[in-house]
Amino acid sequence: MQLTTRSKVVSNKQLSFAERIYLPALLKGMFITLSHLFKKKVTILYPEVKREHAPVYRGQHVLKRDENGAERCTSCGMCAVACPAEAITMESGERKKGEEHLYREEKYAAKYEINMLRCIFCGLCEEACPKEAIFLTDRIVPTEFEREDFIYGKDKLVELVDKRVDVSKRQTPEVLAFKKLEGMRHNVLYTKKLTTKSESKS
Ligand code: SF4
Ligand code: SF4
Repeated sequence: MQLTTRSKVVSNKQLSFAERIYLPALLKGMFITLSHLFKKKVTILYPEVKREHAPVYRGQHVLKRDENGAERCTSCGMCAVACPAEAITMESGERKKGEEHLYREEKYAAKYEINMLRCIFCGLCEEACPKEAIFLTDRIVPTEFEREDFIYGKDKLVELVDKRVDVSKRQTPEVLAFKKLEGMRHNVLYTKKLTTKSESKS
């Protein structure tokens, strides 16, 4: 009984001398190899040559500062909760008097780490962040030899005051318009003054 239609009849014919010394197979293989010499190359000479990435390519993260240079992250933990790879850990700190120029909110991330070996660059941390503090960029995480070197702390994640990372292309006009809608609480600076005002209203 025939079980499938893919059965193949095996030939038991005697191999010729050329076939026994693999000559046709060798020539066929060489022909395939030679034909590739004249085809357009699909490889590039990285790192001398770099491929152009899409503006929304998801590479190494950046922790953003606001227009005054203060860190935007308020250590709310939303990114860590959203992260499917459990790659993000943080410890919160309380802003002291005189540190307003360093941290945008009263609570800030005293320690913030991303394990790049765990990260799958899904971008969910970026989407979950209510403070526009974390973004993925088109930068590639460099290779390292030690596992600990892949744990990125604030020293590698927070952008430099005088060397900002442009993330403007990561947000579509629709998303930006949505954030500007009247009554949206997104990215509002929660100061004591604002909280008292909203409490007295209710
Ligand atoms: S990109 Fe995805 S996996 Fe990587 S830290 Fe963000 S949420 Fe986690
Ligand atoms: S990066 Fe954004 S989501 Fe993550 S802790 Fe900071 S403010 Fe919250």
